[in-house]
Amino acid sequence: MSDSVTTSIVRRYRDLSSIDALLQQMSSELERWGHTQLTDTLREITSELRAEISLGHKPDTSIETIRLRAEQKLAARHEASLVNVINLTGTVLHTNLGRANLPAEALDAISAVARSASNLEFDLTSGKRGDRESHVEALICEMTGAEAATAVNNNAAAVLLVLNTLAMNREVPVSRGELVEIGGSFRIPEVMSRSGCTLVEIGATNRTHLKDYRNAINPHTALLMKVHTSNYRVEGFTASVSEPELAALASEHRLPFVIDLGSGNLVDFTTLGLPHEPTAAEALASGADLVTFSGDKLLGGPQAGLVAGRADLVEAIKKNPLKRALRLDKMTLAALAEVLKLYRDPQQLTRRLPTLRLLTRKQSEIREQAESMLPALQGALTPRFTVSVADCHSQIGSGSLPVETIASAALKITPVSAQDSELRELAEHLRRLPLPVIGRMHKNAVWLDLRCLEPEQQQAFSAQLGSLQV
Ligand SMILES: *Cc1c(COP(=O)(O)O)cnc(C)c1O
Repeated sequence: MSDSVTTSIVRRYRDLSSIDALLQQMSSELERWGHTQLTDTLREITSELRAEISLGHKPDTSIETIRLRAEQKLAARHEASLVNVINLTGTVLHTNLGRANLPAEALDAISAVARSASNLEFDLTSGKRGDRESHVEALICEMTGAEAATAVNNNAAAVLLVLNTLAMNREVPVSRGELVEIGGSFRIPEVMSRSGCTLVEIGATNRTHLKDYRNAINPHTALLMKVHTSNYRVEGFTASVSEPELAALASEHRLPFVIDLGSGNLVDFTTLGLPHEPTAAEALASGADLVTFSGDKLLGGPQAGLVAGRADLVEAIKKNPLKRALRLDKMTLAALAEVLKLYRDPQQLTRRLPTLRLLTRKQSEIREQAESMLPALQGALTPRFTVSVADCHSQIGSGSLPVETIASAALKITPVSAQDSELRELAEHLRRLPLPVIGRMHKNAVWLDLRCLEPEQQQAFSAQLGSLQV
């Protein structure tokens, strides 16, 4: 480096203001972000500027530019990681997109109980310690006909807790046709082994008979369990043992009979025009001593796992020290109670409970919605893409009713070039919108199934179309 270059670099270094000098000129930023963050950010910017200078560049070191760089860095650091999206995948209960949307009643209850002290475990009548379960137990019993109930963090936890309480160091026969894997990390055999019980596989993948259960029962058997094959269906030459038959066998041997329902809804879906899915009440009426099911699948509530059934078994489960580790927090309890209360008015459910409202939207209504949105979407896209309204099939999701689909309608966006890269580019632009839009790529098009697009989000969707530059 020549002397003159070295001199000018030294001069530029010297021109850089000190952190203290910068802080003195940034009182409003100091007020907004606080001393620690602002100082750290200014140090970072200063060292970046030094690095640029050392490379012989001439960066703008004015206070205005530093102020702008600091604002950008701090704002980026504060951007939320967990943000809302618009779910146009056509899967109503999408595990990766947070499953059930909660009704207003539940949101209000969460906010109230989070804001201040509550009677979470305090009996207002006696002034003594109360039971946090009391806020939901009677409601679960009311909706299922169970004698007793409890709730934990999710259904995986419910299954773990039931098995750990009733079957540790003992055997549980389960049909090979029911060794379910739910979305990667939850596999019945693995949960059983973690719970401390031994799985005894019986029958074959497609056929299991009552005699298979009967032959597996021995003095080490803890209980009989049936797992609802919620995310797949074995078809063809099949046989499985009905709930009443298994219940009778269990009772003959004085063993509890447990059903993991998975979704476990609380109303007869056929009355809503949806495919039949066993309800918790039906499972108990068919002879189950305990049922376990999710709070945020078809029930439409917060993430939770519900256990309902015989009082003595529920009592033992509540006393298990693991229960404390898996118990629900006050916000979830508050939301769950509100959602359960909505079930007292079944006629209003499809209006008031978002999950059931979305699942029961009519195709004709969705098609009309798509037609009304088509011109604006086509107008927002470059002529590289064409938009049409197309019929499609929504899925319930979360492993509920895997085979049945619901007729729906979509805005179908097709690249004129029929190129896959353009399709991916479009999907990426949709994901990068201020309120990200998640569609489905299928048959060389991006499908925006509008089943889950309710009025509020439709407004947001339309309002941001201007920033869709693709
Ligand atoms: C979904 C499901 C689970 C797990 O429930 P989470 O609430 O997601 O933990 C367990 N068993 C079955 C049969 C399921 O369908």
